[in-house]
This record gives sequence, C-alpha cells and structure tokens, in this order.
Amino acid sequence: MANSKVIVPRRLWLDGLAELCHRGGLTHEAGAFLLGTKSGEGRVGTKWVFYDELDPNAYSTGICILHADAFDRLWRYCRETGLMVIADIHTHPGSPRQSPSDRANPMIALQGHLALIVPNYAKGPHWRHRLGIYRYEGSHKWTDLSGWRGRIMLSTGTFR
Ligand SMILES: [Zn+2]
Repeated sequence: MANSKVIVPRRLWLDGLAELCHRGGLTHEAGAFLLGTKSGEGRVGTKWVFYDELDPNAYSTGICILHADAFDRLWRYCRETGLMVIADIHTHPGSPRQSPSDRANPMIALQGHLALIVPNYAKGPHWRHRLGIYRYEGSHKWTDLSGWRGRIMLSTGTFR
C-alpha cells in the first residue's frame, strides 16, 4: 500500500489544477482532496473535493486550514460514495517545498498518503517534476518524492 502508485486521468488532473488556481485567485493558497478507488495498478483518482467545499473559510488565513467539522463532512462523503482519500493537494505562492506547518500537520496522517504541492498558485505550466510530492510514512516522517522520482508514484497522463 505504501508504494502503490497514484493514477489521475489527465482530464481530471488538469481540471483540478485549473480549479485550484481559480479558487486561490492568485492571492492565497487553495487545496483539495483527491478521492478515488483501488485498482490492480494502484489507486485511481476519480474526484476532487476542494477544501472550501468542506469549509467556506478554509483559506481565510491565506494558508489552507481545515477543522474537525470539515473532516466530518469529508468522511461522510466517503462513506456515502464508497470512495477513499488517496492524496491531498494544495498550492503555494512560490516553491512547492513543504512548509514546517505542512510537515508538522499532515492533512491525513495515514502511512502511504500522498501530499502534493503545486507551485505558483497553480498558474502553470504544469510539470509533474516541478510538483512537491511527499509521502507520509507515519510518526511525522515524510519521504520526498519530488522531481523525476515523482513519475514513479504519480501518473497524470494515461493514454492507453
Ligand atoms: Zn503548504
């Protein structure tokens, strides 16, 4: 499970990034959970749930903050749809490096969970090797999979 690949169909991927850029308005961070299902090849994304859909004030401090009631809504939605959370994603104004707060506060503290960070408020152009890709290993430890290594963990363009 910890090594299972995350696959996001290209259309869903690009729509999600465009939506993050739009919701952040190039002035503050925006974020979303990627929901999906398990398949033989890995975990396949099928749906974005944006943080401000869970809490209208999620971006009010400039960075993404979700409180317990937002997670209650998320888990209820997962129960109702049968989907699982496979990654979270949020934008940064500049570099896609994890902030101390990103490292200290995993959105989902489950081993194998992927946290993605998109640079430049998701303005694009979008290159997988310019994303921040971090895998949570538990106990506040992360593996940095950013750069070309990310291509092994994250597939965003499946033309098959
Ligand atoms: Zn961050």
